[in-house]
Amino acid sequence: MANGVRVGIAGAGLGGVAAAGLLQRAGFDVILFDQAPGFARLGAGIQFGPNVLKILSHLDGLDKKLEEISCLPDYWVSRQWDTGEIMAKIPLNAERSRYGAPYITIHRGDLHQLMLDCVQPERVRWGHKLVDFQDNGHDVTLNFENGARETVDILVGADGINSRVREKIFGREEAVYTGWLAHRAIIPGSVARGLGADVNAKWWSDDRHIVCYYLDRNEDEFYLVTGEPGEWTSASGQLPSTRAEFKAAFKGFHPLVQGYIDATDVVNKWPLKTRQPLPQWYEGRVVLLGDSCHPMKPHMAQGAAMAVEDAAVLTRCMSLLGTQDLDGTFRAYCDARRERATKVQTISNANTWLRQPEDPYWCYGDNVYDLKIGA
Ligand code: FAD
Repeated sequence: MANGVRVGIAGAGLGGVAAAGLLQRAGFDVILFDQAPGFARLGAGIQFGPNVLKILSHLDGLDKKLEEISCLPDYWVSRQWDTGEIMAKIPLNAERSRYGAPYITIHRGDLHQLMLDCVQPERVRWGHKLVDFQDNGHDVTLNFENGARETVDILVGADGINSRVREKIFGREEAVYTGWLAHRAIIPGSVARGLGADVNAKWWSDDRHIVCYYLDRNEDEFYLVTGEPGEWTSASGQLPSTRAEFKAAFKGFHPLVQGYIDATDVVNKWPLKTRQPLPQWYEGRVVLLGDSCHPMKPHMAQGAAMAVEDAAVLTRCMSLLGTQDLDGTFRAYCDARRERATKVQTISNANTWLRQPEDPYWCYGDNVYDLKIGA
């Protein structure tokens, strides 16, 4: 069914790369475009739950490769900001067989590189910023800032929170600054171990938190990422910060947290933005996935996970239902994804996930390959 169907994917972030790898394996003729000049080991830490690892097993055993190099925390620990008292201790890899796959924490750049390695390199076009496209009902013509043009049968918008694809089909609307920002830094794992760090913990006060975990199997790097109220007036998606600014924001937090912050060198900060859930994720021959259609505050560590789940369900719908009746295929994709993605978006934005003891099985135990697609 996929034979000869040309799919253009705008955006080689984690969602776009997952879609490219899965669609290629399903027989689609995929080209992956990104505005960036090339791959860079960007970002810092990321957590991927068993719900995602089950999908990555469909990329030639990528789950196993990731497991070899990632940190595999047994528990998620929620602690009181000042006393360190444990508020919740939720099994992660301690209940791996129940969830059906491991829970990993890893450097985002290392994850991205391994995912990109699952895409045919000659089908990746760096330096291609999509500026416009025309869907004429039979195919879609893509126009890039560098003057290049391509014609594809289907366009997948995986171009993130400021999606040009979304803007073109649903109109321009600025993403909303939530009033929260995130400080991010990496410290040596040896320092964290010396201080007695948990493998994976979130320290909560009433109005802010800091999440801390190792980024690799050898525990060489330890990652700090926060959520805290703050001003953001810059148009930039990231700004340099300082240890002093970071420390001031976490004044009064437990001495262990102070020890982590004292060990920071390079500190950055990000604005946390979101959008209202979209009622529809497609129009004609164009379909959205990931942050382009359901961005969220990152407090459930499931934003990229939802992008990868979208990619897997979209691939299944296009493979099983075909591309003759695209409206029906894309409707089935949206129907299969909207409720779960919106639930995750809502809980993530509310920042309540795992603060108190709760069973995360509905999220981590899910397997998108068990979903019934079509009638
Ligand atoms: P993106 O990752 O934003 O990728 C979009 C891509 O599109 C980029 O490569 C960009 O260069 C490209 N692009 C944009 N416009 C164009 C254009 N016009 N033409 C061509 N290319 C274009 N999620 C998790 O699952 N686990 C976590 O632990 C986690 N932690 C997070 C921590 C923080 C502080 C933040 C801010 C987010 C976190 N997330 C986490 C969420 C996650 O980062 C996002 O949900 C995820 O990156 C979305 O993936 P995406 O592929 O949809 O978009």
